[in-house]
Amino acid sequence: MSQHIQSVRGMNDILPGAAEFWEVFEETVRSWLKSYGYRPIRLPIVEPTPLFKRAIGEVTDIVEKEMYSFIDSLNGEPLTLRPEGTAGCVRALIQHKLAVQQPQRLYYMGQMFRHERPQKGRYRQFNQVGVESFGFAGPDIDAEQILMGARLWDDLGLDGIKLQLNTLGQADERARHRLELIRYFEHDVDLLDEEAKRRLYTNPLRILDSKNPTMQEMIVAAPRLIDYLGSESLAHFEGVQQVLRDAGLPYEINPRLVRGLDYYNLTVFEWVTDRLGAQGTVCAGGRYDGLVEQLGGKPTPACGFAMGVERLLTLIQEAGGEPVLEGIDVYLVHQGEAASRLAPRVAEGLRDQGIDVLFHCGGGSFKSQMKKADASGASFAVIIGDDEANAGEVTLKPLRANGEKQNEQKREQKRVSVDHVADEIMNLFLDWEDA
Ligand code: ATP
Ligand code: MG
Repeated sequence: MSQHIQSVRGMNDILPGAAEFWEVFEETVRSWLKSYGYRPIRLPIVEPTPLFKRAIGEVTDIVEKEMYSFIDSLNGEPLTLRPEGTAGCVRALIQHKLAVQQPQRLYYMGQMFRHERPQKGRYRQFNQVGVESFGFAGPDIDAEQILMGARLWDDLGLDGIKLQLNTLGQADERARHRLELIRYFEHDVDLLDEEAKRRLYTNPLRILDSKNPTMQEMIVAAPRLIDYLGSESLAHFEGVQQVLRDAGLPYEINPRLVRGLDYYNLTVFEWVTDRLGAQGTVCAGGRYDGLVEQLGGKPTPACGFAMGVERLLTLIQEAGGEPVLEGIDVYLVHQGEAASRLAPRVAEGLRDQGIDVLFHCGGGSFKSQMKKADASGASFAVIIGDDEANAGEVTLKPLRANGEKQNEQKREQKRVSVDHVADEIMNLFLDWEDA
């Protein structure tokens, strides 16, 4: 006996019922992005491994231990399933010279892959909506992208998602702070855990991001980057905050917010909820002015963010905001030779008029077909027997009005000519809406 093959751990199927919920979410997201003038870009799921190593940084969680990397056995190329979208987006921007003529506002959505320990809100295949802008240097675009988040939470009916803000300054400012940080941690090196020790000389800023409780006291008292920033960096940060204050958007400055990827500078931000336990960050982003050049393009200022779709959907669900799934308009019941020849034409005719039809397949008695019609949640059964077929008619039977099951006396059925059934259905829909 062969064993059933299961999905890969941490990579989930999204079944009908849940998948419609995803589609509603995606529609909301698309119209939100459109309202800010962001345009879609569709990128490959697999990219050359060196792209991520160069973009994200060698000494990061993602590159050190989370990437699905493999050698294409057919040609020996090192490839990686994308762990995030920015690297591929910048690669495409450079490859197609997109930002050379004019600035770009772009977005994408899709699967990302990270080899992490699966748990609530953390999967090995997960989905992000990514938003990126290229060619805008000022704090206005940072602020725009932050305000966008606030609007989306509102559109999705979510509250309690709080904004945390920080600035990472520029590379030279970080370098001076880094030296101080190393000196500070060297002083009490015994208090560092293994990971922190390993990062002390490669990426000490990341130590500030550690969740290890025994290191918290030390981290809180560590030298603060903001004290090493020059006037330009401070002005940029102030510029972002000014727009947020003018918009009345509350935020908290979190000096420990550093992000897990190397490419950020100046503004970084996260949207955080306390309703998802440790996996509380639903959206994270910031500025990455050096990345385009670092990957071989012309120097191009850039700013972007990514949201975790699974985490947002969990929040929506927990807030009771899951959309009610509507049944189909018509279930088409048919039996007999003449009827079964007419039925497909009736179904297509209804669809021509914009009416959705679930066509009964597989035969069976009227009774068993009617049971399926009822169970389908359809608003109407359109019934065709040979009797109807020979008269060029169908029987129309209302099953549910506005999603509510109709009682028997309201389920009054009537014969309608094939040419008029669509009109009849439309009129009944309108009557119900008014009722
Ligand atoms: P975390 O600190 O939770 O590991 P991160 O800093 O690794 O997050 P980013 O790379 O900034 O996350 O990705 C942006 C968003 O994508 C996160 O805020 C989160 O909502 C979502 N996300 C990241 N990793 C996962 C995952 N493994 N499963 C589900 N969602 C994820
Ligand atoms: Mg992570």
